[in-house]
Amino acid sequence: MLKISNLHAGIENNEILKGINLEVKAGEVHAIMGPNGSGKSTLASVIAGKEEYEVTEGSVVLEGENLEDSSPEERAHKGIFLSFQYPVEIPGVSVTNFMKTAINEGRKAKGLDDMPAKDMLKMIRDKAELLEIDRKFLSRSLNEGFSGGEKKRNEIFQMAMLEPKLAILDETDSGLDIDALRIVANGVNKLKNKDNAVIVITHYQRLLEYIVPDFVHVLHQGKIVKSGTKELAHELEEKGYDWLKQETAV
Ligand code: ADP
Ligand code: MG
Ligand code: MG
Repeated sequence: MLKISNLHAGIENNEILKGINLEVKAGEVHAIMGPNGSGKSTLASVIAGKEEYEVTEGSVVLEGENLEDSSPEERAHKGIFLSFQYPVEIPGVSVTNFMKTAINEGRKAKGLDDMPAKDMLKMIRDKAELLEIDRKFLSRSLNEGFSGGEKKRNEIFQMAMLEPKLAILDETDSGLDIDALRIVANGVNKLKNKDNAVIVITHYQRLLEYIVPDFVHVLHQGKIVKSGTKELAHELEEKGYDWLKQETAV
């Protein structure tokens, strides 16, 4: 599904990603871990096509298509979802109405008509039920006064509605209490299937107690320095990142 080859990227002449190789197949969950500042969020941003980052070498290929010339919106329409893509507060626009608009914009980009209201309503109900999201939440104003857990719930709801091929969840270190972790983990576990793939980015191993990844990769100074199975995450939790830094020091 996703193939990243020798990816070098950075910002203002400062190279942050220094030759990333990563292959993600449909049905897989990959975790990307690594110390603060190792380039995890940059990698997520570059996959999503954020324009402040410049790709200087290598490629990001989704289902055989090089994404080089695709904008973030085009990538979203091709099925890439990045958490925190829509962090704006919009007073007066509900969680539900925001999603209706996003879905119909996506359909328009593919030359399709709006989803019939009846189908949209059914989809919203089904997804909300699956994720145990109550009606009251769906009519709240987007992101307005949301707690950490509610922001996560909203993100997972967006992911459920957009049914991405590839979801990238960048779980930044701050504000992840245990409830928020569970919301994310339950959502991912319920939404993953054999046709989609998930990349979970996290600094800590904790999240991976709830989402069991097929592969774990450790990013350090812009390179994947180690890949393994979930055992690698346990090892990191025990030993920290220092042993890797020593092991990989040139
Ligand atoms: P992580 O998510 O692993 O903590 P980041 O990808 O956020 O790491 O950052 C990696 C490095 O790139 C850091 O040294 C950071 O300061 C730098 N960096 C990331 N984004 C920017 C930016 N927009 N402007 C300047 N430097 C950046
Ligand atoms: Mg960071
Ligand atoms: Mg980060």
